[in-house]
Amino acid sequence: MTSIVPDLKKSVVWFLTGSQGLYGEETLRQVAEQSKTVAAGLAGSADIPVTVEWKPVLTDPESIRRAMLDANADDAVIGVITWMHTFSPAKMWISGLDALQKPLLHLHTQANVELPWADIDFDFMNLNQAAHGDREFGYIESRLNIARTTVVGHVSDPAVTRRVGVWTRAAAGRAATRGMKVARFGDNMRYVAVTEGDKTEAELRLGVQVNTWPVNELAAAVADQTDAGVDALVAEYLDLYDVVPELRPGGDRAASLRDGARIELGLRSFLEAGGFHAFTDSFEDLGDLTQLPGLAVQRLMADGYGFGAEGDWKTSVLVRTANVMGAGLAGGASLMEDYTYHLEPGQELILGAHMLEVSPTLTTAKPSLEIHPLGIGGKDDPVRLVFTADPGPAVVVALSDMRDRFRLVANVVDNVALPHPMPKLPVGRAIWKPQPDFRTSATAWLMAGAAHHTVMSTQVGVDVFRDFAKMSGVELLVIDDGTTVDGFDQQLRWNAAYYRLAQSI
Ligand code: MN
Repeated sequence: MTSIVPDLKKSVVWFLTGSQGLYGEETLRQVAEQSKTVAAGLAGSADIPVTVEWKPVLTDPESIRRAMLDANADDAVIGVITWMHTFSPAKMWISGLDALQKPLLHLHTQANVELPWADIDFDFMNLNQAAHGDREFGYIESRLNIARTTVVGHVSDPAVTRRVGVWTRAAAGRAATRGMKVARFGDNMRYVAVTEGDKTEAELRLGVQVNTWPVNELAAAVADQTDAGVDALVAEYLDLYDVVPELRPGGDRAASLRDGARIELGLRSFLEAGGFHAFTDSFEDLGDLTQLPGLAVQRLMADGYGFGAEGDWKTSVLVRTANVMGAGLAGGASLMEDYTYHLEPGQELILGAHMLEVSPTLTTAKPSLEIHPLGIGGKDDPVRLVFTADPGPAVVVALSDMRDRFRLVANVVDNVALPHPMPKLPVGRAIWKPQPDFRTSATAWLMAGAAHHTVMSTQVGVDVFRDFAKMSGVELLVIDDGTTVDGFDQQLRWNAAYYRLAQSI
């Protein structure tokens, strides 16, 4: 089936070098050579999944502004890296920075690692003066209040390329939300608050287009699927999963698996035809669908689609964004819901799952494909993949609409192996220990008004979400090993004041 996880090498970051005409042609030639070497160091790093493209050295306001406008206009360009190799008087950058609408990374580096102690003269000093050239640039970035990520160090230092790589993944997420089309089948689950939100504001801030289609248009697409297509997809299921005997061809409930396959084919065709990268459904509004989509949703998330249950378009956006930001890395991104707890003091665990819709990219084991009753929705028993998420580091991230802003809340967690088998719980699930500890995590989560639906990513860490939030102008609260309840409380108060003050009238 067709994955829509992007090839991040098709996304481009421009490497812009600042200098000026004062130094003469010979120096500018050296600046160009050295900046090409730095850009090549980034481009060749396995930490950086995108294409880094060197651009000619910029020495005047007109060419700087033109470069920024060109970056804005080119859909392949997801961000811009700047380095002031020599001294680029920063007033030359005002119009350009003011025009830039793409994420910015300020790389503070220099060509050499070591000072050439025996040979250093003033020509060397004039050529290699980023130490103050970048300080001049940092001033104008701050003076103009430009959101950016600052990275310091030599390009041969793995900490530098790793940090740049984090930013490029966030920039890919930012590019993914711009113009992301989200299809909603049905509205929010009745009476639920946190899945509501301002879709108009979301389109302005994040660029996401969230619109509704009648679920029976989806049901019609499902009905259009051919038996031959269903045969082929069932064969794929048999190949990929441990399919229980009752669902296998000739089994008592083989027809239910065929229904599930038909739903997957119909959903895919609808999403592909509309150019959608994310969707929601609602168990309260399934129209002529025979089952709540379970298996289909699980597999679509694994192929890079965003999904939110019960009309939750905000989490759907997060799942798609996390799928893009984690492209090419081991692990995955999935809808998750904090479901129930193990409250043994000191050994607390959170059991996360959903009714059905957890992505199998969270496991490297072979999921089993099963059928069980579902107490709500009033439809046929749904088919679903059953598995436990692999042990290892993860992050859960929620998006809430706080009326005057969107708020991301992230908790750094560790997925753990199942302490005991759960033979009677037939869903995809994850068991985790939250940082810094259960009591602090849950207290802070509730204080922040963070949602019960999250995206769980086992591909990217909280650092990628931090850059994503900054470049998207969205609040982010992080709950990790550094979090205390008192400190978090203060942060909530400061942020309330900041975001109110930062608004225009
Ligand atoms: Mn739910």
